[in-house]
Amino acid sequence: MRSLTSKSVHFISRAFLHPAATSSSSSVRWRAGRCRFCSSSPPEDERKPRASMLRHLTSKIKATGPIPVAEYMRESLTNPVTGYYVRGDVLGPQGDFITSPEISQIFGELVGVWCISEWMGAGRPAQLQLVELGPGRGSLAADVLRVFGQLRSVLAEASVSVHLVEVSPALSRVQARRLTGEQSREADGEDEPVYRRGRTTTGGLPVSWYRRLDDVPAGFSVYVAHEFFDALPIHKFQRTEKGWREVMVDIEPDEPERLRFVVAPTPTLASSTLVQADEKRNHVEVCPEGGVIIQQLANRISESGGAALIADYGHDGTKTDTFRGFKGHQLHDVLASPGLADLTADVDFSYLRRMAGEGVACLGPVTQRTFLKNMGIDTRLQVLLRSCSDPATRKQLIQSYDMLTSPSKMGERFHFFSLLSPSRLAEPKRTEGLKMEKKSPAQLPVAGFTELSFS
Ligand code: SAH
Repeated sequence: MRSLTSKSVHFISRAFLHPAATSSSSSVRWRAGRCRFCSSSPPEDERKPRASMLRHLTSKIKATGPIPVAEYMRESLTNPVTGYYVRGDVLGPQGDFITSPEISQIFGELVGVWCISEWMGAGRPAQLQLVELGPGRGSLAADVLRVFGQLRSVLAEASVSVHLVEVSPALSRVQARRLTGEQSREADGEDEPVYRRGRTTTGGLPVSWYRRLDDVPAGFSVYVAHEFFDALPIHKFQRTEKGWREVMVDIEPDEPERLRFVVAPTPTLASSTLVQADEKRNHVEVCPEGGVIIQQLANRISESGGAALIADYGHDGTKTDTFRGFKGHQLHDVLASPGLADLTADVDFSYLRRMAGEGVACLGPVTQRTFLKNMGIDTRLQVLLRSCSDPATRKQLIQSYDMLTSPSKMGERFHFFSLLSPSRLAEPKRTEGLKMEKKSPAQLPVAGFTELSFS
Protein backbone atom coordinates (compact mmCIF):
# COMPACT_ATOMS: atom_id res chain seq x y z
CA MET A 1 0.00 0.00 0.00
CA ARG A 2 1.29 3.40 -0.87
CA SER A 3 -0.04 6.69 0.37
CA LEU A 4 0.15 9.91 -1.61
CA THR A 5 0.01 11.84 1.65
CA SER A 6 1.48 15.26 1.04
CA LYS A 7 1.95 15.28 -2.69
CA SER A 8 -0.17 17.73 -4.65
CA VAL A 9 -1.52 16.14 -7.77
CA HIS A 10 -3.21 17.59 -10.80
CA PHE A 11 -6.27 15.67 -11.87
CA ILE A 12 -9.54 16.24 -13.46
CA SER A 13 -12.88 14.57 -13.99
CA ARG A 14 -13.64 13.52 -17.55
CA ALA A 15 -16.88 15.46 -17.32
CA PHE A 16 -15.13 18.84 -17.46
CA LEU A 17 -12.94 18.08 -20.40
CA HIS A 18 -15.66 18.10 -22.94
CA PRO A 19 -15.17 19.71 -26.31
CA ALA A 20 -18.08 22.01 -25.45
CA ALA A 21 -17.09 22.64 -21.82
CA THR A 22 -15.88 26.03 -20.68
CA SER A 23 -12.12 26.35 -20.63
CA SER A 24 -12.00 28.19 -17.31
CA SER A 25 -13.06 25.08 -15.40
CA SER A 26 -10.85 22.69 -17.27
CA SER A 27 -8.10 22.44 -14.70
CA VAL A 28 -8.33 21.88 -10.98
CA ARG A 29 -5.48 21.72 -8.50
CA TRP A 30 -6.10 19.04 -5.97
CA ARG A 31 -4.49 17.63 -2.88
CA ALA A 32 -4.85 13.93 -2.32
CA GLY A 33 -4.26 14.35 1.38
CA ARG A 34 -5.50 11.06 2.83
CA CYS A 35 -5.32 7.43 2.03
CA ARG A 36 -8.41 7.77 -0.18
CA PHE A 37 -6.05 6.98 -3.04
CA CYS A 38 -4.15 4.24 -1.24
CA SER A 39 -4.18 1.47 -3.75
CA SER A 40 -1.13 -0.19 -5.07
CA SER A 41 -0.22 0.63 -8.68
CA PRO A 42 -0.32 -2.22 -11.15
CA PRO A 43 2.98 -3.74 -12.21
CA GLU A 44 4.59 -1.75 -15.04
CA ASP A 45 3.87 -4.45 -17.63
CA GLU A 46 0.12 -4.28 -16.83
CA ARG A 47 0.06 -0.66 -18.01
CA LYS A 48 1.67 -1.45 -21.36
CA PRO A 49 -0.37 -2.88 -24.23
CA ARG A 50 0.53 -6.49 -24.82
CA ALA A 51 -0.01 -6.24 -28.57
CA SER A 52 -0.82 -3.39 -30.86
CA MET A 53 -4.49 -2.51 -30.82
CA LEU A 54 -3.89 -0.22 -33.80
CA ARG A 55 -2.49 -3.15 -35.82
CA HIS A 56 -5.46 -5.30 -34.79
CA LEU A 57 -7.94 -2.60 -35.90
CA THR A 58 -6.21 -1.78 -39.19
CA SER A 59 -6.07 -5.46 -40.23
CA LYS A 60 -9.75 -5.78 -39.40
CA ILE A 61 -10.62 -2.70 -41.50
CA LYS A 62 -8.42 -3.95 -44.39
CA ALA A 63 -10.25 -7.29 -44.30
CA THR A 64 -13.86 -6.14 -43.92
CA GLY A 65 -13.97 -2.38 -44.62
CA PRO A 66 -14.66 0.55 -42.26
CA ILE A 67 -16.02 -0.43 -38.83
CA PRO A 68 -18.79 1.25 -36.79
CA VAL A 69 -17.65 3.62 -34.02
CA ALA A 70 -19.28 1.18 -31.56
CA GLU A 71 -16.97 -1.62 -32.69
CA TYR A 72 -13.96 0.71 -32.49
CA MET A 73 -14.95 1.74 -28.96
CA ARG A 74 -15.70 -1.81 -27.79
CA GLU A 75 -12.40 -3.17 -29.11
CA SER A 76 -10.37 -0.23 -27.75
CA LEU A 77 -11.89 -0.41 -24.27
CA THR A 78 -12.65 -4.06 -23.58
CA ASN A 79 -10.78 -6.29 -26.05
CA PRO A 80 -9.81 -9.23 -23.78
CA VAL A 81 -6.10 -8.92 -24.63
CA THR A 82 -5.32 -5.30 -25.42
CA GLY A 83 -8.39 -3.33 -24.26
CA TYR A 84 -7.87 -0.14 -22.26
CA TYR A 85 -9.76 -1.31 -19.14
CA VAL A 86 -8.38 -4.82 -19.36
CA ARG A 87 -4.75 -3.79 -18.99
CA GLY A 88 -4.83 -2.30 -15.49
CA ASP A 89 -5.65 0.45 -13.03
CA VAL A 90 -6.52 3.44 -15.18
CA LEU A 91 -8.27 5.57 -12.55
CA GLY A 92 -7.11 8.04 -9.93
CA PRO A 93 -4.48 10.77 -9.85
CA GLN A 94 -1.91 8.56 -11.53
CA GLY A 95 -4.28 7.16 -14.13
CA ASP A 96 -6.18 8.94 -16.87
CA PHE A 97 -9.24 10.24 -15.02
CA ILE A 98 -10.74 10.66 -11.57
CA THR A 99 -14.28 9.88 -10.40
CA SER A 100 -16.49 11.08 -7.53
CA PRO A 101 -16.00 7.98 -5.32
CA GLU A 102 -12.24 8.52 -5.67
CA ILE A 103 -12.56 12.18 -4.68
CA SER A 104 -14.46 11.81 -1.43
CA GLN A 105 -15.62 8.98 0.81
CA ILE A 106 -18.81 10.99 1.49
CA PHE A 107 -20.03 10.17 -2.02
CA GLY A 108 -20.05 6.39 -1.44
CA GLU A 109 -21.40 6.78 2.07
CA LEU A 110 -24.46 8.64 0.79
CA VAL A 111 -24.97 6.00 -1.92
CA GLY A 112 -24.79 3.41 0.90
CA VAL A 113 -27.54 5.24 2.79
CA TRP A 114 -29.60 5.28 -0.43
CA CYS A 115 -29.22 1.49 -0.82
CA ILE A 116 -30.42 0.85 2.73
CA SER A 117 -33.25 3.33 2.36
CA GLU A 118 -34.49 1.51 -0.78
CA TRP A 119 -34.21 -1.85 0.99
CA MET A 120 -36.32 -0.41 3.83
CA GLY A 121 -38.76 1.16 1.34
CA ALA A 122 -39.29 -2.32 -0.15
CA GLY A 123 -40.37 -3.65 3.24
CA ARG A 124 -36.96 -4.99 4.43
CA PRO A 125 -36.76 -8.19 2.34
CA ALA A 126 -34.81 -11.11 3.84
CA GLN A 127 -32.16 -10.87 1.12
CA LEU A 128 -30.15 -7.85 -0.07
CA GLN A 129 -27.79 -8.19 -3.02
CA LEU A 130 -25.57 -5.17 -3.62
CA VAL A 131 -24.78 -5.31 -7.35
CA GLU A 132 -22.28 -2.84 -8.79
CA LEU A 133 -21.68 -2.48 -12.52
CA GLY A 134 -18.12 -1.39 -13.41
CA PRO A 135 -16.69 -0.98 -9.89
CA GLY A 136 -13.36 0.59 -10.99
CA ARG A 137 -11.02 0.46 -7.99
CA GLY A 138 -13.74 -0.74 -5.61
CA SER A 139 -13.84 2.56 -3.69
CA LEU A 140 -17.58 3.11 -4.06
CA ALA A 141 -18.38 -0.46 -2.93
CA ALA A 142 -15.96 -0.10 0.02
CA ASP A 143 -17.68 3.11 1.19
CA VAL A 144 -21.17 1.61 0.71
CA LEU A 145 -20.14 -1.48 2.69
CA ARG A 146 -18.72 0.65 5.51
CA VAL A 147 -22.19 2.20 5.88
CA PHE A 148 -23.75 -1.29 5.81
CA GLY A 149 -21.37 -2.18 8.66
CA GLN A 150 -22.28 0.94 10.64
CA LEU A 151 -25.99 0.23 10.16
CA ARG A 152 -25.62 -3.49 10.94
CA SER A 153 -28.39 -3.30 13.52
CA VAL A 154 -30.81 -2.01 10.85
CA LEU A 155 -29.76 -4.68 8.35
CA ALA A 156 -29.54 -7.44 10.96
CA GLU A 157 -32.37 -9.52 9.57
CA ALA A 158 -31.09 -9.45 5.99
CA SER A 159 -28.68 -11.81 4.31
CA VAL A 160 -26.35 -9.39 2.46
CA SER A 161 -24.09 -10.34 -0.46
CA VAL A 162 -21.98 -8.35 -2.92
CA HIS A 163 -21.95 -8.93 -6.71
CA LEU A 164 -19.53 -7.07 -8.96
CA VAL A 165 -19.91 -6.98 -12.74
CA GLU A 166 -16.45 -6.23 -14.09
CA VAL A 167 -15.02 -6.99 -17.51
CA SER A 168 -11.41 -6.28 -16.56
CA PRO A 169 -9.50 -9.07 -14.75
CA ALA A 170 -6.81 -6.53 -13.77
CA LEU A 171 -9.35 -4.15 -12.18
CA SER A 172 -11.06 -7.11 -10.48
CA ARG A 173 -7.73 -7.77 -8.72
CA VAL A 174 -7.57 -4.12 -7.57
CA GLN A 175 -11.19 -4.40 -6.31
CA ALA A 176 -10.45 -7.71 -4.58
CA ARG A 177 -7.47 -6.24 -2.72
CA ARG A 178 -9.58 -3.29 -1.68
CA LEU A 179 -12.61 -5.24 -0.48
CA THR A 180 -11.29 -8.62 0.62
CA GLY A 181 -7.60 -8.07 1.36
CA GLU A 182 -6.00 -11.26 0.12
CA GLN A 183 -9.14 -13.30 0.75
CA SER A 184 -10.32 -13.89 -2.81
CA ARG A 185 -9.76 -16.70 -5.29
CA GLU A 186 -9.98 -16.86 -9.04
CA ALA A 187 -12.19 -19.59 -10.54
CA ASP A 188 -10.38 -22.58 -12.00
CA GLY A 189 -12.21 -22.67 -15.36
CA GLU A 190 -12.21 -19.71 -17.76
CA ASP A 191 -15.90 -20.13 -18.54
CA GLU A 192 -17.16 -20.01 -14.96
CA PRO A 193 -19.84 -17.29 -14.65
CA VAL A 194 -18.33 -16.35 -11.27
CA TYR A 195 -14.68 -15.77 -12.14
CA ARG A 196 -13.55 -14.68 -8.67
CA ARG A 197 -14.93 -15.11 -5.16
CA GLY A 198 -14.03 -13.73 -1.77
CA ARG A 199 -15.25 -12.39 1.57
CA THR A 200 -15.13 -8.77 2.70
CA THR A 201 -12.44 -8.00 5.27
CA THR A 202 -14.98 -6.37 7.56
CA GLY A 203 -18.15 -8.33 8.09
CA GLY A 204 -17.15 -11.38 6.04
CA LEU A 205 -19.83 -10.80 3.39
CA PRO A 206 -19.59 -12.99 0.27
CA VAL A 207 -18.33 -11.13 -2.83
CA SER A 208 -18.57 -12.57 -6.37
CA TRP A 209 -17.23 -11.23 -9.67
CA TYR A 210 -19.03 -11.70 -13.02
CA ARG A 211 -18.34 -10.57 -16.59
CA ARG A 212 -22.04 -10.02 -17.35
CA LEU A 213 -25.10 -8.82 -15.44
CA ASP A 214 -26.99 -11.84 -16.80
CA ASP A 215 -24.85 -14.12 -14.63
CA VAL A 216 -25.77 -12.42 -11.33
CA PRO A 217 -28.33 -14.59 -9.48
CA ALA A 218 -31.94 -13.40 -9.33
CA GLY A 219 -33.11 -11.90 -6.04
CA PHE A 220 -33.89 -8.58 -4.41
CA SER A 221 -30.99 -6.35 -5.44
CA VAL A 222 -29.89 -2.75 -5.26
CA TYR A 223 -27.91 -2.00 -8.43
CA VAL A 224 -25.36 0.80 -8.58
CA ALA A 225 -23.65 2.02 -11.77
CA HIS A 226 -21.33 5.00 -11.49
CA GLU A 227 -19.56 6.18 -14.65
CA PHE A 228 -20.36 2.81 -16.21
CA PHE A 229 -22.84 3.63 -18.97
CA ASP A 230 -20.55 6.32 -20.45
CA ALA A 231 -17.96 3.59 -21.16
CA LEU A 232 -20.35 1.45 -23.24
CA PRO A 233 -19.95 1.59 -27.04
CA ILE A 234 -21.97 4.16 -28.98
CA HIS A 235 -22.98 4.26 -32.63
CA LYS A 236 -22.75 7.67 -34.31
CA PHE A 237 -25.17 8.82 -37.01
CA GLN A 238 -25.12 11.81 -39.34
CA ARG A 239 -28.11 13.32 -41.12
CA THR A 240 -27.31 13.65 -44.86
CA GLU A 241 -29.29 14.70 -47.93
CA LYS A 242 -29.95 11.03 -48.56
CA GLY A 243 -31.11 10.29 -45.00
CA TRP A 244 -29.39 9.01 -41.86
CA ARG A 245 -25.95 7.48 -42.37
CA GLU A 246 -23.65 5.78 -39.87
CA VAL A 247 -20.24 7.29 -39.04
CA MET A 248 -17.53 4.64 -39.43
CA VAL A 249 -13.82 4.34 -38.67
CA ASP A 250 -11.50 3.83 -41.64
CA ILE A 251 -7.75 3.98 -42.39
CA GLU A 252 -6.34 7.30 -43.63
CA PRO A 253 -5.63 6.57 -47.35
CA ASP A 254 -1.99 7.72 -47.47
CA GLU A 255 -1.10 6.96 -43.84
CA PRO A 256 -1.58 3.29 -42.96
CA GLU A 257 -0.93 3.99 -39.25
CA ARG A 258 -3.67 6.64 -38.93
CA LEU A 259 -7.41 6.30 -38.59
CA ARG A 260 -10.16 8.66 -39.76
CA PHE A 261 -13.93 8.98 -39.61
CA VAL A 262 -15.97 8.38 -42.78
CA VAL A 263 -19.71 8.46 -43.40
CA ALA A 264 -21.15 5.20 -44.75
CA PRO A 265 -22.43 5.76 -48.33
CA THR A 266 -25.49 3.54 -47.79
CA PRO A 267 -27.68 2.79 -44.74
CA THR A 268 -26.33 0.23 -42.24
CA LEU A 269 -28.51 -2.01 -40.09
CA ALA A 270 -27.75 0.33 -37.16
CA SER A 271 -28.63 3.54 -39.04
CA SER A 272 -31.91 1.99 -40.22
CA THR A 273 -32.98 0.78 -36.78
CA LEU A 274 -31.48 2.96 -34.06
CA VAL A 275 -32.43 6.52 -35.07
CA GLN A 276 -35.88 7.69 -33.92
CA ALA A 277 -38.28 8.54 -36.77
CA ASP A 278 -38.96 12.04 -35.36
CA GLU A 279 -35.29 12.83 -34.55
CA LYS A 280 -34.62 16.60 -34.85
CA ARG A 281 -30.85 16.70 -34.38
CA ASN A 282 -28.38 16.41 -37.27
CA HIS A 283 -25.97 14.15 -35.43
CA VAL A 284 -26.88 11.54 -32.82
CA GLU A 285 -25.12 8.98 -30.66
CA VAL A 286 -26.96 5.83 -29.59
CA CYS A 287 -25.71 3.23 -27.11
CA PRO A 288 -27.68 0.00 -27.76
CA GLU A 289 -25.59 -1.96 -25.24
CA GLY A 290 -26.68 0.55 -22.57
CA GLY A 291 -30.28 0.00 -23.73
CA VAL A 292 -29.95 -3.78 -23.36
CA ILE A 293 -28.47 -3.46 -19.85
CA ILE A 294 -31.28 -1.09 -18.81
CA GLN A 295 -33.83 -3.62 -20.09
CA GLN A 296 -32.13 -6.38 -18.10
CA LEU A 297 -32.18 -4.19 -14.98
CA ALA A 298 -35.84 -3.36 -15.54
CA ASN A 299 -36.77 -7.03 -15.98
CA ARG A 300 -34.82 -8.07 -12.92
CA ILE A 301 -36.41 -5.33 -10.79
CA SER A 302 -39.94 -6.10 -11.93
CA GLU A 303 -39.44 -9.86 -11.41
CA SER A 304 -37.41 -10.02 -8.16
CA GLY A 305 -37.73 -6.51 -6.70
CA GLY A 306 -35.04 -3.94 -6.07
CA ALA A 307 -33.86 -0.59 -7.33
CA ALA A 308 -31.11 0.79 -9.57
CA LEU A 309 -29.13 3.97 -9.12
CA ILE A 310 -27.30 5.19 -12.22
CA ALA A 311 -24.97 8.17 -11.95
CA ASP A 312 -23.12 9.62 -14.89
CA TYR A 313 -22.58 12.68 -17.01
CA GLY A 314 -25.25 12.97 -19.62
CA HIS A 315 -28.18 14.74 -21.20
CA ASP A 316 -31.85 14.20 -21.90
CA GLY A 317 -31.68 13.57 -25.65
CA THR A 318 -30.40 17.03 -26.55
CA LYS A 319 -26.66 16.72 -27.22
CA THR A 320 -24.97 15.69 -30.44
CA ASP A 321 -21.22 14.97 -30.62
CA THR A 322 -19.93 14.02 -27.16
CA PHE A 323 -17.51 11.18 -28.03
CA ARG A 324 -14.12 12.01 -26.50
CA GLY A 325 -10.84 10.50 -25.34
CA PHE A 326 -8.67 10.94 -22.23
CA LYS A 327 -5.09 10.25 -21.45
CA GLY A 328 -3.22 11.49 -18.39
CA HIS A 329 -6.14 13.78 -17.37
CA GLN A 330 -6.05 15.53 -20.73
CA LEU A 331 -8.41 15.45 -23.70
CA HIS A 332 -7.04 13.03 -26.27
CA ASP A 333 -7.84 12.50 -29.96
CA VAL A 334 -10.33 9.58 -29.97
CA LEU A 335 -8.65 7.95 -32.97
CA ALA A 336 -5.07 8.26 -31.68
CA SER A 337 -3.52 5.42 -29.63
CA PRO A 338 -6.57 3.10 -29.42
CA GLY A 339 -6.33 0.86 -26.35
CA LEU A 340 -4.04 3.32 -24.57
CA ALA A 341 -6.57 6.10 -23.95
CA ASP A 342 -9.97 6.19 -22.30
CA LEU A 343 -12.97 6.67 -24.60
CA THR A 344 -16.30 7.95 -23.35
CA ALA A 345 -19.58 9.53 -24.46
CA ASP A 346 -22.32 11.34 -22.54
CA VAL A 347 -25.20 9.13 -21.45
CA ASP A 348 -28.55 9.83 -23.11
CA PHE A 349 -30.96 9.46 -20.18
CA SER A 350 -34.01 9.91 -22.44
CA TYR A 351 -32.89 6.78 -24.33
CA LEU A 352 -32.39 4.84 -21.08
CA ARG A 353 -35.87 5.87 -19.92
CA ARG A 354 -37.37 4.75 -23.23
CA MET A 355 -35.57 1.41 -23.10
CA ALA A 356 -36.59 0.79 -19.45
CA GLY A 357 -40.20 0.35 -20.62
CA GLU A 358 -43.38 0.27 -18.60
CA GLY A 359 -42.46 -2.44 -16.10
CA VAL A 360 -40.49 -0.10 -13.83
CA ALA A 361 -40.80 3.46 -12.58
CA CYS A 362 -38.01 5.87 -13.58
CA LEU A 363 -36.93 8.80 -11.42
CA GLY A 364 -34.67 11.61 -12.57
CA PRO A 365 -32.28 12.47 -13.93
CA VAL A 366 -31.58 15.00 -11.17
CA THR A 367 -28.26 16.79 -10.89
CA GLN A 368 -25.56 15.39 -8.62
CA ARG A 369 -25.78 18.57 -6.56
CA THR A 370 -29.51 18.07 -5.96
CA PHE A 371 -29.12 14.36 -5.22
CA LEU A 372 -26.26 14.80 -2.74
CA LYS A 373 -27.93 17.76 -1.02
CA ASN A 374 -31.18 15.79 -0.72
CA MET A 375 -29.14 12.92 0.75
CA GLY A 376 -27.78 15.26 3.44
CA ILE A 377 -24.22 15.93 2.22
CA ASP A 378 -24.12 19.27 4.12
CA THR A 379 -24.91 17.59 7.43
CA ARG A 380 -22.40 14.80 6.76
CA LEU A 381 -19.68 17.36 5.95
CA GLN A 382 -20.37 19.24 9.19
CA VAL A 383 -20.16 15.97 11.20
CA LEU A 384 -16.79 15.12 9.63
CA LEU A 385 -15.46 18.67 10.12
CA ARG A 386 -16.48 18.64 13.79
CA SER A 387 -14.47 15.47 14.39
CA CYS A 388 -11.40 16.68 12.51
CA SER A 389 -8.85 19.20 13.76
CA ASP A 390 -6.08 18.73 11.17
CA PRO A 391 -6.18 21.86 8.95
CA ALA A 392 -5.00 20.01 5.81
CA THR A 393 -7.68 17.34 6.14
CA ARG A 394 -10.35 19.96 6.86
CA LYS A 395 -9.31 21.85 3.74
CA GLN A 396 -9.42 18.67 1.70
CA LEU A 397 -12.91 17.80 3.00
CA ILE A 398 -14.19 21.23 2.00
CA GLN A 399 -12.49 21.13 -1.40
CA SER A 400 -13.87 17.69 -2.20
CA TYR A 401 -17.38 18.78 -1.13
CA ASP A 402 -17.04 21.76 -3.48
CA MET A 403 -15.77 19.56 -6.32
CA LEU A 404 -18.74 17.18 -5.98
CA THR A 405 -21.50 19.76 -5.58
CA SER A 406 -20.44 23.03 -7.20
CA PRO A 407 -22.51 23.78 -10.32
CA SER A 408 -19.36 24.74 -12.22
CA LYS A 409 -17.61 21.49 -11.27
CA MET A 410 -19.26 18.07 -10.94
CA GLY A 411 -22.51 19.31 -9.37
CA GLU A 412 -24.43 19.94 -12.57
CA ARG A 413 -22.62 17.87 -15.20
CA PHE A 414 -23.38 14.62 -13.39
CA HIS A 415 -26.89 13.27 -13.00
CA PHE A 416 -28.63 10.58 -10.97
CA PHE A 417 -31.29 8.40 -12.51
CA SER A 418 -33.17 5.56 -10.86
CA LEU A 419 -35.25 2.53 -11.79
CA LEU A 420 -37.71 1.37 -9.15
CA SER A 421 -40.35 -1.26 -8.81
CA PRO A 422 -43.69 0.51 -9.55
CA SER A 423 -45.04 -0.75 -6.20
CA ARG A 424 -42.39 1.40 -4.51
CA LEU A 425 -44.17 4.56 -5.60
CA ALA A 426 -47.74 3.29 -5.37
CA GLU A 427 -50.07 5.15 -3.05
CA PRO A 428 -51.07 3.04 -0.03
CA LYS A 429 -54.44 1.40 -0.72
CA ARG A 430 -57.39 2.98 0.99
CA THR A 431 -60.45 1.17 2.19
CA GLU A 432 -63.91 2.61 2.18
CA GLY A 433 -64.26 5.67 4.35
CA LEU A 434 -60.67 6.62 3.32
CA LYS A 435 -59.05 4.82 6.22
CA MET A 436 -55.57 3.42 5.52
CA GLU A 437 -55.43 -0.35 5.21
CA LYS A 438 -53.48 -1.76 8.12
CA LYS A 439 -51.21 -3.80 5.82
CA SER A 440 -50.21 -0.81 3.68
CA PRO A 441 -47.54 1.14 5.50
CA ALA A 442 -47.01 4.73 4.40
CA GLN A 443 -44.45 4.82 1.58
CA LEU A 444 -41.00 6.13 2.40
CA PRO A 445 -40.05 8.91 0.00
CA VAL A 446 -37.26 7.93 -2.43
CA ALA A 447 -34.14 9.43 -0.90
CA GLY A 448 -32.04 11.73 -3.09
CA PHE A 449 -34.85 12.44 -5.54
CA THR A 450 -37.02 14.19 -2.97
CA GLU A 451 -36.06 16.82 -0.46
CA LEU A 452 -36.22 15.05 2.89
CA SER A 453 -37.29 16.89 5.96
CA PHE A 454 -35.87 15.72 9.24
CA SER A 455 -38.46 17.42 11.46
N1 SAH B 1 -17.46 3.03 -11.13
C1 SAH B 1 -16.05 3.34 -11.05
C2 SAH B 1 -15.26 3.08 -12.34
C3 SAH B 1 -15.72 3.76 -13.60
S1 SAH B 1 -14.72 3.34 -15.01
C4 SAH B 1 -15.86 4.76 -10.54
O1 SAH B 1 -16.77 5.55 -10.71
O2 SAH B 1 -14.79 5.07 -10.04
C5 SAH B 1 -15.70 2.08 -15.82
C6 SAH B 1 -15.70 0.73 -15.14
O3 SAH B 1 -16.55 -0.15 -15.89
C7 SAH B 1 -14.36 0.01 -15.08
O4 SAH B 1 -14.32 -0.75 -13.89
C8 SAH B 1 -14.40 -0.88 -16.31
O5 SAH B 1 -13.48 -1.94 -16.30
C9 SAH B 1 -15.83 -1.34 -16.28
N2 SAH B 1 -16.40 -1.73 -17.59
C10 SAH B 1 -16.31 -1.05 -18.75
N3 SAH B 1 -17.02 -1.68 -19.71
C11 SAH B 1 -17.59 -2.75 -19.12
C12 SAH B 1 -18.46 -3.79 -19.59
N4 SAH B 1 -18.86 -3.84 -20.86
N5 SAH B 1 -18.85 -4.73 -18.71
C13 SAH B 1 -18.45 -4.70 -17.40
N6 SAH B 1 -17.62 -3.75 -16.92
C14 SAH B 1 -17.19 -2.79 -17.77
